[in-house]
Amino acid sequence: MARILMVASEAAPFAKTGGLADVVGALPRALAELGHEVAVVMPRYGNIPTADMTHAWGNLIAYLGRHAISADIWTKQERGVTFFFVDTPWLYDRFGYYGHADDHLRFGNLCLNALNVIRFLWRPDVVHLHDWQSALVAPYLKTRFQMDPTFQGIRIVYTIHNLEHQGRLGKALFPELGLDSWLMQMDFMEYFGDVNLMKGGIVFADAITTVSPRYAAEIQTPEFGFGLDGFLRAYSGKLRGILNGVDYREWDPSIDTHLAAPYSSEDLAGKRDCKLRLLRKLGLPEENMDRPVLGIVSRMARQKGFDILSEVAWELMNDDVCLTVLGSGEKRYEDLFRNLETAFPGRAATFFGFNDTLAHEIEAGSDIFLMPSLFEPCGLNQIYSLRYGTIPVVRATGGLDDTVDGETGFKFWGYWPPDFLLAVRAALAEYKNPEAWQARMRRAMSRDFSWASSARQYSGLYRQLLGR
Ligand code: ADP
Repeated sequence: MARILMVASEAAPFAKTGGLADVVGALPRALAELGHEVAVVMPRYGNIPTADMTHAWGNLIAYLGRHAISADIWTKQERGVTFFFVDTPWLYDRFGYYGHADDHLRFGNLCLNALNVIRFLWRPDVVHLHDWQSALVAPYLKTRFQMDPTFQGIRIVYTIHNLEHQGRLGKALFPELGLDSWLMQMDFMEYFGDVNLMKGGIVFADAITTVSPRYAAEIQTPEFGFGLDGFLRAYSGKLRGILNGVDYREWDPSIDTHLAAPYSSEDLAGKRDCKLRLLRKLGLPEENMDRPVLGIVSRMARQKGFDILSEVAWELMNDDVCLTVLGSGEKRYEDLFRNLETAFPGRAATFFGFNDTLAHEIEAGSDIFLMPSLFEPCGLNQIYSLRYGTIPVVRATGGLDDTVDGETGFKFWGYWPPDFLLAVRAALAEYKNPEAWQARMRRAMSRDFSWASSARQYSGLYRQLLGR
């Protein structure tokens, strides 16, 4: 068995803005259950208290160009996994995890302190990096610290969770990364005159993974490559897709404590109670019990397909459906849902914000779940929907294509409003036939996307890299 050190900018339950946190929260635990020793290095953001942690090391200095940044390391065990928190309050104790002018220092400091953890506290066989925020570990290990015996033999896995966000910086910031100037070339980290942190991870990792097999193929095409498709094609020999799992301890209607009533594929009765509570909670009249309820839980961003939804939303609502939505993000999409509430009073309701309980309640209380994404590296909500018997209508892209099939959900291919509308209408037509619908619900609920199988694939990859 191997020792694996993950480096990431977020991990549930400590810090979460999206699916990355779910993965870094759950995969280490699943690997530990397979017998690996696993640790995670992440920033100590202001919302993470140190009261129940051990002070592991003090005043470590990270040299980033002209900056010498001091950090302390705190540690704590969480469900069989060792967490190390890099504590530099002036960098991490802020509102919002990303989007700061000094993000290169914030995450450069994280990456150099991951190497400090390796040097002083916890030496792994493999470092496993996630997205652009931890990508710098790869060029540090393979260039700046290449001759340092401390790090000899450590293998690097780099996982792309979303290619849209690459960590792009103005070239004036390159000297502040503490890397040799030859890396500022197109074959390494230069990108249209800027610095691209993700490129550093791609070039120097021993293996690259992304979060679904379909997305691994898609990101090598211009349509999904965000300018890096050619670069990724050059490294396709070390790139593969491993589908994310989901945590059924959190997301299973037979044990979900957020719900009005439990239910399962053997006994679906509780789902009606969940539907009723959802309607009441969102202030929608009970007459909607007789209508199909469509659900959405999502960041309101272009990626999630709201442009094609907005084209067909009025026509769809005229099919006598009810719509329940949870999310927040770009104003133009929030306005779309506000306008629908006004146009269809009593049949559409949106909660703007982040609310874990309501996310569970929409998964359970809706009949049909909509995910018409423009692109979707893996996507978790469609997998939750399957387990909750809430039939997903999805665009066949990325992880949506890998997890939903014609037996369990409804798919459409082109990013094209009429195709989306046709797919929803196919679902609505079948909904009118309770026997066929319930059979579909039961098939969906029996699908298994638990972490164990994904963790086994990562485990195989580590073994392959270590020659074991
Ligand atoms: P992404 O990482 O692109 O946002 P995923 O589907 O991979 O999309 O993961 C999103 C995660 O965040 C899921 O666990 C989902 O339930 C949760 N989520 C998204 N928006 C909200 C919200 N407004 N309130 C609560 N949970 C949310």
